[in-house]
Amino acid sequence: MLDAQPAPLVQVQDLKMHFPIYSGLFRRHTGDVKAVDGVSFDILAGQTLGLVGESGCGKSTVGRAMLRLYEPTAGRVVIDGDDVATLSPEALRKKRPTMQMVFQDPQASLNPRMTLADIVSEPLDEHTNWTRDQKLERVYDLMDQVGLNRRFVNRFPHEFSGGQRQRIGIARALALKPRFIVCDEPIAALDVSIQAQVVNLLEDLQEKLGLTYLFISHDLSMVRHLAQRVAVMYLGRIAELSPSKDLYARPLHPYAEALLSAVNEPDPVLAAQRKRIILKGDVPSPANPPRGCNFCTRCPRVMDICQTVKPDLVEVEPGRLVACHLYTAAGSTGTSEASEHKKHERIQQGETR
Ligand code: SF4
Repeated sequence: MLDAQPAPLVQVQDLKMHFPIYSGLFRRHTGDVKAVDGVSFDILAGQTLGLVGESGCGKSTVGRAMLRLYEPTAGRVVIDGDDVATLSPEALRKKRPTMQMVFQDPQASLNPRMTLADIVSEPLDEHTNWTRDQKLERVYDLMDQVGLNRRFVNRFPHEFSGGQRQRIGIARALALKPRFIVCDEPIAALDVSIQAQVVNLLEDLQEKLGLTYLFISHDLSMVRHLAQRVAVMYLGRIAELSPSKDLYARPLHPYAEALLSAVNEPDPVLAAQRKRIILKGDVPSPANPPRGCNFCTRCPRVMDICQTVKPDLVEVEPGRLVACHLYTAAGSTGTSEASEHKKHERIQQGETR
């Protein structure tokens, strides 16, 4: 009998988040910043999807649009059976407890005038009619879960270290027993020595509470450790979506390949094969992305077709999706470079098997 695969808890389909540009004397709508431009992925229940890419690629906007902190321009975001993108305000308020966010900067996301007890019980004030004692009991329980001493319950955010403040942010996110959490660069603002502790805490909580995470980060090494699958974003679109171990061992998309070439490889055999790829040029503006492939202005393998036709994200190997003409029939017709590349990939796979 086949192993039962967990069902997707989260399904994102063709999510777009465009911010309008107004200019001129009459503030006319003259264009859009296409921060997220047609992103699709699933996250299986109890698993972590890593979302990586350079800053400004739209990864944080994806997380915010998914939780309706921004109003998505288009697309579906089904979380535990409900399309969050189209819920009415009242239905969205009822849905909020099941989906939460852990923010990057715990200093900025915690009200400096509120005590730990007030901060962590704030969602309980909004969504329950519990008594004061019931709420305090829940706060203590959450403090135990995130490793904060109960004696600190009446302290203010400035009396905690950065790592402790992030634990408060995690406790607040857990207060209403969510099923899905967007972790938006949750360790980026912390000292390196503290980062691993917070990541371990997130992992332990996931295991204990069956949580599903979208883990947004530019730290590729940390994502490798945490996520079962990883989506690489470039200029508002997904370039590659692969199981973590496959992506790190053999990235397929030229952008993913360049990004990962800068990551330390613990496997000495793979490290010896890897060579650093330095990309030339700057990332184009999301207000004026290239007509064809978003990466065509910097891609070391660019072909004619890349300048005019946007590649779709398609499955090119079991479980591996890539948006690149090197892997599609359109790219291989008439371009010997594409078929050469595929041949090279096949040879590499054969050699490393
Ligand atoms: Fe490079 Fe073309 Fe592939 Fe885009 S579609 S990543 S430009 S080869």
